[in-house]
Amino acid sequence: MSDASQKEKLRQHFARRVTTQARVVLDTWQKTHTNNNSFPAHREELLSASDKLVRYAQRFEMAGHAEAGRTILGLIRDRPADKPLDDTSERQLQDAIDALARSTLRRTDQSNTEAPHQFRRTPVYIALANAELANRLIRQLEFFGFRASAFDSAEELTEACALHKPETILMDVNFGGSLNAGITTIEHLQERHDTPIPIIFLSDEDGTIQTRLRASRCGGEEFFYPAVDPGQLIEKIETYTHGNTVEPYRVLVLDDSRAQAKFMETVLKRAGMTAHIITDPMEIINSLDMFSPEIIILDMYMPGCTGMEIARVIRQQDRFHSVPIIYLSAEDDVTKQLHAMSLGGDDFLTKPIDPKHLIATLHNRGRRARSLLALMIRDSLTGLYNHTHTLYLLDQEIVRARQKDHSLCFAMIDIDFFKKVNDTFGHPIGDRVLRSLSMFLKQRLRKTDHIGRYGGEEFAIILPDTRPSDARNVLNEIRERFSELLQPAGDREFNVTFSCGVAAWNNESSQTLCERADRALYISKENGRNCVTLADN
Ligand code: GH3
Ligand code: MG
Ligand code: MG
Repeated sequence: MSDASQKEKLRQHFARRVTTQARVVLDTWQKTHTNNNSFPAHREELLSASDKLVRYAQRFEMAGHAEAGRTILGLIRDRPADKPLDDTSERQLQDAIDALARSTLRRTDQSNTEAPHQFRRTPVYIALANAELANRLIRQLEFFGFRASAFDSAEELTEACALHKPETILMDVNFGGSLNAGITTIEHLQERHDTPIPIIFLSDEDGTIQTRLRASRCGGEEFFYPAVDPGQLIEKIETYTHGNTVEPYRVLVLDDSRAQAKFMETVLKRAGMTAHIITDPMEIINSLDMFSPEIIILDMYMPGCTGMEIARVIRQQDRFHSVPIIYLSAEDDVTKQLHAMSLGGDDFLTKPIDPKHLIATLHNRGRRARSLLALMIRDSLTGLYNHTHTLYLLDQEIVRARQKDHSLCFAMIDIDFFKKVNDTFGHPIGDRVLRSLSMFLKQRLRKTDHIGRYGGEEFAIILPDTRPSDARNVLNEIRERFSELLQPAGDREFNVTFSCGVAAWNNESSQTLCERADRALYISKENGRNCVTLADN
């Protein structure tokens, strides 16, 4: 059987499992109606059936069922165990049951042709002997926008991985009961994948070099012995899930031959890069501004000027001082190539270009350029943009908003009573809180928003193309959710809140905009903290 049809069979198998569980819920609901008002007698049964439905539907990626199940579960939980349903609850529950019945019907009508829905993020799988810790982690991860599932047995984990390769697995070394059974499971699992799944291993009893080696050989990226607290684990999980979603490199190509330029565009796009192609050297300045390339490919000889001359002009701008420049030409005279490199080029590729060679060169150059740039523009504790770069981005967004006549908002966040966190729990836990807020913001804001660490416990957010009321609502939602997040400190937990000021750009300088956001933040502090204030325009 082909890989694809095997996968399809598995999907159908899981889809059936979910629909069967949905029927159990529907049948149980029916029972409460055959004996009038027997809700209390069946409440427990309904609760556990719908809880199971939600877990299955989430695990097997059937969003419709998961949502219907969650609504039912929520409604039942809210009802006291010893009272019959009142009219309103009865109606609400019936609506939710109807919704579930509809999605179950739809699936059978289409004879399972509708594959389980894809959730937006790939999952994180958790296989821990300690079920309570696993559940706690799932709840925390949900706060950060991750989708996590826990498993009770190696078989379930293996089945789920066959259906959907997870971004990372958190694995007990002894998962399954016997010594190193967790490692054995992972060894088998990895054999099925071309690229290994990154694994975070936990061990309570065994930190020997033999066990560590075995774990590392089957894709173990981390090995925690003794096991650590949830905060540390979540940070690790974030590392491995972010690494997998590398932004495509932005590559600018200048070549006067349209055919050559088109060819390059095709090769770059096929490799998943974002390409911007120009054939007229006089367009270079405009393209630099609009496209902000991370790598530039220049043809050596063009009418009107040479690639070396263009490279010099590019290097005269501070912003592009370290962007890699790669020359492209039929030139195979080594002396001339060396001369070209001395004029600010980084690499030389000879036509005809071997696509593999080109892509490998771009990846190497791009990776290095990004890590160098990160040192310059990012804050080392949180990985967010630093103060200087945040202001640079704000200026850029103001230019864009003016050009396109779009709205733009700027928000300042300051953690409440942060000094007390440091004083009570220590500086390292304070640092952890800063990182957790930064992860939280990264997960909850759009890719187009820019997040910076403005100062110690202050953050700044640029929200392009956003109306003031929307910005306030989004930040208010984030504030509320963040305040619910339990921050672990050893065997204790605590909550942290922040205050926020938002200002909408009003055709003013970035400095004035910052000052207005800062004043709004100050008002939030004055008003008792843990709130968001929108500045008057
Ligand atoms: P308020 O609600 O008024 O903002 O009170 P606050 O305690 O948060 O404000 P204050 O400005 O008095 O204190 C900020 C504290 O943040 C003081 C400083 O020690 C701490 N801080 C700044 N940068 C860092 C950091 O990088 N790590 C840690 N752990 N603490 C930091
Ligand atoms: Mg402060
Ligand atoms: Mg503060």
